[in-house]
Amino acid sequence: MSKRDYYEILGVSRDADEKEIKRAYRKLAMKYHPDRNPDDKDAENKFKEASEAYEVLADASKRGAYDQFGHAGVDGQGGAGGFGGGGGGSFSDIFGDVFGDIFGGGRGGRSNRGADLRYTLELDLEEAVKGTTVQIKVPGHIECDLCDGSGAEKGSQAETCGTCGGVGQVRMQQGFFAVQQACPTCRGAGKVIKNPCKKCHGNGRVEQAKTLSVKVPPGVDTGDRIRLSGEGEMGIDGGPSGDLYVQVAVKEHSIFSRDGRNLYCEVPISIIDASLGGELEVPTLDGRVKLKIPAETQTGKLFRLRNKGVAPVRGGPAGDLLCRVIVETPVKLTKRQKELLEELQQTLDGKNGTNHGPRKTSWFEGVKSFFDEMKF
Ligand SMILES: [Zn+2]
Ligand SMILES: [Zn+2]
Repeated sequence: MSKRDYYEILGVSRDADEKEIKRAYRKLAMKYHPDRNPDDKDAENKFKEASEAYEVLADASKRGAYDQFGHAGVDGQGGAGGFGGGGGGSFSDIFGDVFGDIFGGGRGGRSNRGADLRYTLELDLEEAVKGTTVQIKVPGHIECDLCDGSGAEKGSQAETCGTCGGVGQVRMQQGFFAVQQACPTCRGAGKVIKNPCKKCHGNGRVEQAKTLSVKVPPGVDTGDRIRLSGEGEMGIDGGPSGDLYVQVAVKEHSIFSRDGRNLYCEVPISIIDASLGGELEVPTLDGRVKLKIPAETQTGKLFRLRNKGVAPVRGGPAGDLLCRVIVETPVKLTKRQKELLEELQQTLDGKNGTNHGPRKTSWFEGVKSFFDEMKF
């Protein structure tokens, strides 16, 4: 079967300029592209034909040879099988130009930087508030010491890959497309290992947890993270390592809860201390301090101890310690204690004209007016 004239295929005149040729090819390529004409043998042939014609006519020297000698002048350069070795340059030009909008155009860059790692560091409240240095063990890889990272057994060497000649890339024919891809034999490395190292099985690196010393600044809180640059996973082929992110998680404390820079705690006091007043010992993160409780302290009252909270890690003054006193009802009373309370009760009934229960009084008044309004 004789080949059709390239100019005829593209539908341009023999003196068409580069622009016209490109425009003509673009039109045909869009029309007959196999992605748009699945399982259409005729479209496939037309696409092939147009591509071949374009490859010759878009290249000044090939076009010259074609004009002079016809198909014989360019045979073997843009053969019917597609674009073999020769016209790589113009092929990718076409690709970028014509198909960029169809295929998205981008060639994703592959990074050989190691992955970032995350490590959750549990801290006691005290450690988080005051800062600490902790040793953490993170999984990782190191260069295999048996083969010095080559992956080949001692005394042997990695050999240049026969499939790709050490380039790591091969040209594959996929339909009419010549594509560069990673060599399937050496997976892009360019070398093959005939006798893999016994220790690393040819990887050139072995797993080894590493111990890192992490300095935790005072004032950190749950959700804060510390970045250890370059302590993530090892890079590939000499690429940079990733980073390690140490994520802080503060454990619950038996006494204190934390809200930003303030600490909060509840302090039980006896009914006697609450009534007569007194001095309590309350815990802080710096040890015990004395807290004066005035007479007639009601349950739930909040006392503020200034600057006994947390100095935040990003600077600024320390917060406060807030102590809420909870008046406790005595339990496991003896007969005598009960008698004393009953005796006390007699004196608190208000018959002496003094109101001993401020809240109780106002509460009962509230209830009374509530019922009145509801007209029960
Ligand atoms: Zn290879
Ligand atoms: Zn090894």
